[in-house]
Amino acid sequence: MSDVSRVFDAVTYSLIVPIYNEEAVLPLLFERLDKLAAELDGPTEIILVDDGSRDRSARMIVEKVKTTPNYRFIALSRNFGHQIAITAGMEAASGRATIVMDADLQDPPEVALDLVAKWKEGYEIVYAQRLSRDGETAFKLATAHIFYWVMKRLATVDIPENVGDFRLVDRVALDTFLAMPERDRFVRGMFGWMGFRQAAVPFHRAARAAGETKYPFWKMLRLAANGVVGFSDFPLRLALWLGSLISLVAVLFGVFVLVLAIISTDLVHGWASTVVIVSFLSGINLFMLGVVGIYVGRIHTEVKRRPLYVVGRKIGFHEGNSPDPAHGKVIP
Ligand code: UDP
Ligand code: MG
Repeated sequence: MSDVSRVFDAVTYSLIVPIYNEEAVLPLLFERLDKLAAELDGPTEIILVDDGSRDRSARMIVEKVKTTPNYRFIALSRNFGHQIAITAGMEAASGRATIVMDADLQDPPEVALDLVAKWKEGYEIVYAQRLSRDGETAFKLATAHIFYWVMKRLATVDIPENVGDFRLVDRVALDTFLAMPERDRFVRGMFGWMGFRQAAVPFHRAARAAGETKYPFWKMLRLAANGVVGFSDFPLRLALWLGSLISLVAVLFGVFVLVLAIISTDLVHGWASTVVIVSFLSGINLFMLGVVGIYVGRIHTEVKRRPLYVVGRKIGFHEGNSPDPAHGKVIP
């Protein structure tokens, strides 16, 4: 067995929970996490990532870490946002399976047991899919629905509906995720992009156990924009299509005006030539903007520096040939 897998064997499950001003829910959260850790069938570490909380969250977590051996604490220096916070936690995880869940108990920790059961069937990515959502405003439900509708049509990868960031990922998928250096991280899109065997576990999303949402409307909007821009170049291609269409209309209109100028005698002097020049130039303008958009799209793909492909498994290679021995390992 390689060194890498021996290190992972020490911890089977890593639970990652991002925390931002969650003092109201922490005592309850600890209780539920302790219960879950006792029910899981392997050594479990619980990584709490404090995303720059301004309340007593950090102090409460430190107290817990001091008294409970399997708790770990990472404090970010300021509020970096939920997606970065869970990335920080995943980077620190050493388990063979990593489970990310919200702090507010909207993602019931017990569902993790179902995720684990699916993982044992051989799925590298198991996401929890909401069947219902309690305690959410009609506005949040409607905007979320619109978002998934738009993403389904625009995104180049499959982003399942009603799936947040509550999921289990196998070590192989986690290493792939960590090898994606893009800075604007739309985590659920990234897991959609990488493929592997993925499965869904349905669950009922509870209402927030205490405290209030840390995702105000503008943060949701930013997340949604990140998702669209990171996983679709449709807005850029739109410029080319619109540019071509409008320039075509402009040229036709120019021809029409020319014909009008030839057959009609009572046109205002100079009108026809002005209109022809203006429509020609605006057509060229929009078209060239679209062309620039195509190149910007290429740059956009390049700067994300995603791996070209992800290897699901490799068979028949010698250990020394393989860049990462964790890849290609058959799931237990
Ligand atoms: N969160 C975070 N940083 C932020 C906002 C939220 O770490 O800037 C955490 C928060 O503490 C919670 C999770 O992300 O554990 C989901 O946030 P919330 O429950 O407020 O979102 P909602 O369920 O309302 O969409
Ligand atoms: Mg919540």
